[in-house]
Amino acid sequence: MRIPFIAGNWKMNLTLSEAESFVKVVRNHLPVSETLETAIAASPLFLPSMVKLSKGSPLKIAAQNCFYKDAGAYTGEVSPLSLKDVGVSYVILGHSERRRYFHESNKMINLKALSVLKNGMSPIIGCDEKMSKIKSNNHMKWLDNPVSEALRNVKAEDMSRVMIAYEPSWAIGTGRAATKEEAEDGCYLIRTTISELYSPKVADQVRILYGGSVSHKNVADLMACPNIDGVLAGKASLNPDNFLKLLNYKK
Ligand code: PEP
Repeated sequence: MRIPFIAGNWKMNLTLSEAESFVKVVRNHLPVSETLETAIAASPLFLPSMVKLSKGSPLKIAAQNCFYKDAGAYTGEVSPLSLKDVGVSYVILGHSERRRYFHESNKMINLKALSVLKNGMSPIIGCDEKMSKIKSNNHMKWLDNPVSEALRNVKAEDMSRVMIAYEPSWAIGTGRAATKEEAEDGCYLIRTTISELYSPKVADQVRILYGGSVSHKNVADLMACPNIDGVLAGKASLNPDNFLKLLNYKK
């Protein structure tokens, strides 16, 4: 059984005091973790404080990126070992903004994913829109396969800790979300790719998320799709009331 997952990605927003008050509000109003898992991905500067404040609540804390080495001469980078050390549970990797502005390649994202898994955390691997519809049979196919590239050398037994986020770049931050049919198509393609790479059993364990202008208005429809196990929300996660509306999508 795949437990639904809703995560907020704050990107480079909020101050430390805003982040702390967000956690103080949200931690007391969360659905039980057996029915929904939830996380917030924040600036590395806020992570120790957020982990402390969320302790004992179902809210988990995520990082937005990390490097693939645990330590060394890599000025300005964030070590996955230090993320584990402060109690981070998830790390977003390969977000389309990292790919666009920081030229992250699939190869680099793969090294980061291996490192996050080695350190006992779960990677949430972003797949940008690199797909096209084959017009003749209205079927999705890869132009470039970010899923198989990112999962190179990831062992089948680690796959239940991996999440993949289907995030078409035209939907991120634009207010124009994919329709539930488009989002389901993308997530279905990701699941079939994992099935071909590993097995149907492995593909069945992996949580696949949709991201791109998710709001309280479209979250329930998206979450109802068979291959969408959760959502990654940017803008809608910046305010505690809006984030709680996402979490309570069933009400
Ligand atoms: C994101 O940052 O992953 C995202 C989907 O942002 P937004 O919800 O603002 O489109």
